[in-house]
Amino acid sequence: MDIQTRLVHAGEEDKVENAVVTPIFQSATFVAEEGGGYDDIRYMRLSNTPNHNALHAKLASIAGGEAALVTGSGMAAISTALLALLKSGDHLLIQDCLYGGTHSLISHELPELGIGHDFIAGNAADTWAARLKPQTKAIYVETMTNPLLEVADLEAVVAFASEHGLVSLIDNTFASPCNFRPLELGFDIELHSATKYLNGHSDIVAGVAIGSQEHIGAMTHKLNHYGGSLDAHACFLLHRGLKTLSLRMRQHDENGLRLAQFLREQPQVGQVSYPGLDNHPQYERAQRLFAGAGGVLNFELRGGITAARRLVDAVQLAASAPSLGGVETLITRPATTSHSSLSPAQRAAIGVGDDLVRVACGIEAPEDLCADFAQALAQV
Ligand SMILES: *Cc1c(COP(=O)(O)O)cnc(C)c1O
Repeated sequence: MDIQTRLVHAGEEDKVENAVVTPIFQSATFVAEEGGGYDDIRYMRLSNTPNHNALHAKLASIAGGEAALVTGSGMAAISTALLALLKSGDHLLIQDCLYGGTHSLISHELPELGIGHDFIAGNAADTWAARLKPQTKAIYVETMTNPLLEVADLEAVVAFASEHGLVSLIDNTFASPCNFRPLELGFDIELHSATKYLNGHSDIVAGVAIGSQEHIGAMTHKLNHYGGSLDAHACFLLHRGLKTLSLRMRQHDENGLRLAQFLREQPQVGQVSYPGLDNHPQYERAQRLFAGAGGVLNFELRGGITAARRLVDAVQLAASAPSLGGVETLITRPATTSHSSLSPAQRAAIGVGDDLVRVACGIEAPEDLCADFAQALAQV
């Protein structure tokens, strides 16, 4: 069945007390069966309550994986996946333009555990082999980089991993399984910050990993020890949010494209970056691999940093806040939020100017969003 149907029905087969919706089982522990072993214990930290099980079944189904695991945040999913795969002495190849938290994790935490890495350019597959070491175990990329929305050579990542016996991981937060299903392309582990599109309502922090029984089993074991599991109430909210993912993504995709097209025509606006615009460097790949280009876009203002500041103040619908993937539109200047820890020179080197503005479109009517940006641009 189509993902739109699976989003509604998968994981909802057991009708508890005939309830149409799986209720919240707000219970830390469950009565143990006589004669059961450790694996039979049901306890919230072990991610095996009815709310976890229902959610795992839905997530595995929509992504086309054998198994899934939810975690207390996107970073918990990412750190648990890396800790489950890599041990002291191991080495990781990882894309050079990463979500800030992931960049910090691999640069500051993993080296203390003896886990090394080398950065690779997502669109220079011919340079990757030179970075391989005998200890290299995994390769890690993001579907679209933040904030510039570079789309790595994802097919080459899968081929490279299989040729060199590496586990391939992808942070698919920016696409969601509605726009891109990495496991179908051959990736081993798909990761999400479910805080974003999967939940979609900016009211919880959660993470997701989907993959083979073996990989998810190893991650569950780690998560049980490190303790970053998701509470049952948050599981319930994520499960509810997921049911409308397909409808929401359609609107995020439309709003992203409509606003990008609108901004491109405005005299105050410089370069607009959006993978659904035909001038994007990986437009062809995005068209081939993705069902939609998502709700995130960014642009420069000809009036520089002053104009960028004024615009962020002048828009009415878009709240000035980091994050993305909720029903409401958000606007940020990455130089002051996600990339504020870099120096201006480091930012300039990766194309994040101080005048760069990122918009994460919500699901408002596109005419209203464009009208809001029109009145705001008139003030810069
Ligand atoms: C937000 C985000 C994360 C981190 O997720 P949290 O839920 O905040 O822990 C990881 N990767 C990407 C691409 C993100 O946007």
